[in-house]
Amino acid sequence: MKSMSPVWHPFTQHAVQPEPTLIARGDGAWLKTADGRRIFDAISSWWVVTHGHRHPHIVQAIKDQVDRLDQVIFAGFTHEPAERLARRLIAITPPELEYVFFSDSGSTSVEVALKMALGFWRHRGEKRSRILALEGAYHGDTIGGMSVGERGVFNAPYDPLLFDVERLPFPSAGREQATLDGLNTVCRNGTIAALIVEPLILGAGGMLIYPPWVLAEMKRICETHGVLFIADEVMTGWGRTGTLFACEQASVTPDIACYSKGLTGGSLPLAVTLCRADIFDAHYSTDRTRTFFHSSSYTANPIACAAALANLEIWEREPVMERIGRVAILHTENLDRFRDDRRFTNIRQIGTIAALDIAAADAGYMADIGPRLYQGFLARGLLVRPLGNTIYTMPPYCSTASELDLVYEAIGAIADEIE
Ligand code: PLP
Repeated sequence: MKSMSPVWHPFTQHAVQPEPTLIARGDGAWLKTADGRRIFDAISSWWVVTHGHRHPHIVQAIKDQVDRLDQVIFAGFTHEPAERLARRLIAITPPELEYVFFSDSGSTSVEVALKMALGFWRHRGEKRSRILALEGAYHGDTIGGMSVGERGVFNAPYDPLLFDVERLPFPSAGREQATLDGLNTVCRNGTIAALIVEPLILGAGGMLIYPPWVLAEMKRICETHGVLFIADEVMTGWGRTGTLFACEQASVTPDIACYSKGLTGGSLPLAVTLCRADIFDAHYSTDRTRTFFHSSSYTANPIACAAALANLEIWEREPVMERIGRVAILHTENLDRFRDDRRFTNIRQIGTIAALDIAAADAGYMADIGPRLYQGFLARGLLVRPLGNTIYTMPPYCSTASELDLVYEAIGAIADEIE
């Protein structure tokens, strides 16, 4: 029977999925339902909540900002939270990244990155307009984001709208050279504007990890051929992979970088695209047709910027890296219990992200096992959203040993049930 609610939920097949769970509160790593149940947020509410729900410092910053300025047009006007935030971001990222463009979601930060890259080459009078991306990538659900992402069931109906991109094979273990050779070859033809990558781990594409040396090599090859390197750190940023940004592990400085999700500690929607000065300069002209024509109404919303500033203060004042290290150790210890369990394969981890594949007859994202696993976790008070037969957890950094134990116990118990 159709729901009485007029809400159409994202990535939700209303015809087969149960009614959405009504959430009334969030505290730390926990959600509380309207009927009083507690749910451990083992995926940080789609990977955004880093320090836990309603961190008091972020909540206070939001309250203070609301009392001063809620929203103002960001073309022709500016405000202190955005100015301060941009300076702080410049200070904590590689010195080559000198400009900050605000938007409001991971997808829009990617759209901005792609437009910056194309604008750069056009304004320099060079015919480079093709984008390179990794097979299996996910960069968001806007038309540009879908175009550079993996094609499949998610975007098949919109295929006529999507632009063509060059693809590189994912650098799976032992096959890295094929990716690098492919990159070298395609870069030689001189039409490539930019390579966009999720550094070190493909998120929605299945939590697939590749080593820092490959990332470093990809950057080096791009540099050799003058191809811009876009790091989509929307998921990997803000400590997820064990360093503030994943590119740090490969000593890679991207030409353009996208950050969102944990930028506000997961409290409010905000995104930034950082770029090198020459990309800004290519648009800087008395010729007004060279303006960077991109905006959205809520660009650099002051409340969201204040939340992001508070997030940066938390990173400065609190032992965030220690917490990340602790979560990483807990993952490693807990994953050990599955290493000899033949029902699981591809046990993997990077920083606070842990994943493993459960044996299933049918293994893709649309496999029936996905919703069954999801319901199994939910019934145990755990928010875990498997990607097909890939179970992963990416909890807030405040998660404790006993909380993570709940997740890993449930993985074992659900595997028993499914058998
Ligand atoms: N890029 C990556 C790597 C992502 O993981 C995501 C979302 O999961 C996006 C872009 C899109 O972000 P958003 O959902 O905020 O638009």
